[in-house]
Amino acid sequence: MLRIWPLGAVIGQMRREKLPDNRLRKMERPIWGYLLLCLYLILILLLPLLAHLTRTVWPGLFLGAARALGLVGFSILAIQVALGSRLKFIDRPWGMDRVMRFHKWAAIGAFVMLLLHPLTLLVTYAHPMDLGYATGFAMLRTNYGGIIALASLVAVVLSALLLKKIGLEYQLWRYAHKGALIVVVVGFVHGLRSGEAMPAPMQVYFWALLLAALFLFFYSNIYMKLWGRSRWRVDAIIPETHDTYSLALRPHNGEPLHYRPGQFVQLRLDRPGRPSEEHPFTASASPTGAPPLTVTIKESGDFTDTISKTRPGDGARIEGPFGRFSFQFDSPVAFVFIAGGVGITPVLSMLRFLRDTGDERRAVLIYGNHTEADIIARGELEAMPANIEVYHTLNAPPEDWDGLKGHVCADTIEECAGDLLTEADIYLCGPPPMMHSVTEQLKSLGVPRRRIHSERFAL
Ligand SMILES: Cc1cc2nc3c(=O)[nH]c(=O)nc-3n(C[C@H](O)[C@H](O)[C@H](O)COP(=O)(O)OP(=O)(O)OC[C@H]3O[C@@H](n4cnc5c(N)ncnc54)[C@H](O)[C@@H]3O)c2cc1C
Repeated sequence: MLRIWPLGAVIGQMRREKLPDNRLRKMERPIWGYLLLCLYLILILLLPLLAHLTRTVWPGLFLGAARALGLVGFSILAIQVALGSRLKFIDRPWGMDRVMRFHKWAAIGAFVMLLLHPLTLLVTYAHPMDLGYATGFAMLRTNYGGIIALASLVAVVLSALLLKKIGLEYQLWRYAHKGALIVVVVGFVHGLRSGEAMPAPMQVYFWALLLAALFLFFYSNIYMKLWGRSRWRVDAIIPETHDTYSLALRPHNGEPLHYRPGQFVQLRLDRPGRPSEEHPFTASASPTGAPPLTVTIKESGDFTDTISKTRPGDGARIEGPFGRFSFQFDSPVAFVFIAGGVGITPVLSMLRFLRDTGDERRAVLIYGNHTEADIIARGELEAMPANIEVYHTLNAPPEDWDGLKGHVCADTIEECAGDLLTEADIYLCGPPPMMHSVTEQLKSLGVPRRRIHSERFAL
């Protein structure tokens, strides 16, 4: 019988990588990141550059600026699809949270440019062309393609910013956000039909941007969803605290996931009668250990609140690994880990890796929690080898608590890490207010920013 080899399996096989060691792979090197940044600048500036090179008549400063704003704004929007598609060659050198922050600021930049585009056109009509504001406005008003493009852009950007603020459920917000593709399509039609006919080289690049955006959209939203995730099975569910559970996962095909300690995956659970959503979780075990993959999840919302209902044998789909929150990207001489609550998961992975590989570099962990009952993996942390010192601090300690009390502050850090602060790299993960305050405290203690690494549990 003719057997059609599934495309996903072939691509998956090609993507499979060797167990990471301390050497950086080509795409993980910072130079690759800077090359990508240069490429990005070229891609967003290419349209105005082509417009400049192919022009026959100088359009004047205002009209030239108006066109350049529209062209660069459109290019940024089209490339946004690539930034949101979790492409590994972009994640590797930069890390997903940086890419997502860039994605957000690029969207705001494109938004401002595309708002300035009609305003600059209006000024051009009114002054250099001497038509007056009323006529200029009337000319803009009849440009229906432009109005639709601008209105859809305003709707998408405002909904992205506001719906998050008013607490729209994250999954709904994500679906609403995908509507941004419409802005690229409408912007494309508007660009091709407005003003003078576009010279051929510009048309080719314009089409290329649109087709690349459409291809990547379908790649990440359809192909990757259906065939791009590896299939796993839940082996066990282990309660860690009153509200935190670890899932031990095993791959269907026996092929382990090669990740660096501290990296995260996108996990989708297939559980009977429960919606299947995708969420990011850190691989909390050491990549050297068994079972092949463990994630430790705290109940903190619609999806995570159901985590205790997961049963052995439930299916799981995994994409990853992602992120750069791992000391393997920095090769420090010593470590200070500072974690709050479930922010311990990437730190656990790194500590377990240090322990399992017999690494003798000095490490200090300062682990903050609300109550004693919230401490994850306490026994294991306290049994770490002698080169790894562990300090707990609690906001609401019991009466007989003999550890540290209160939030992690400069005094706590100095007391626990002391001389290490002059040379160690700091790895910080916890609730956003804690991360902000600890970063400031570290800076006040003279720790340079380049030695402070952090992971936010929000993309
Ligand atoms: C890099 C990274 C690593 C993480 N590692 C862990 C971990 O090891 N253990 C753990 O318990 N939690 C981890 N989280 C947090 C975890 O992803 C969220 O708690 C979870 O997605 C919340 O979903 P919910 O439906 O239960 O809550 P909701 O109330 O729906 O969401 C709460 C918040 O979580 C974020 N969030 C929700 N869904 C997603 C999503 N699909 N993608 C990105 N962000 C989302 C949003 O900021 C949202 O406002 C990590 C997050 C990130 C970004």
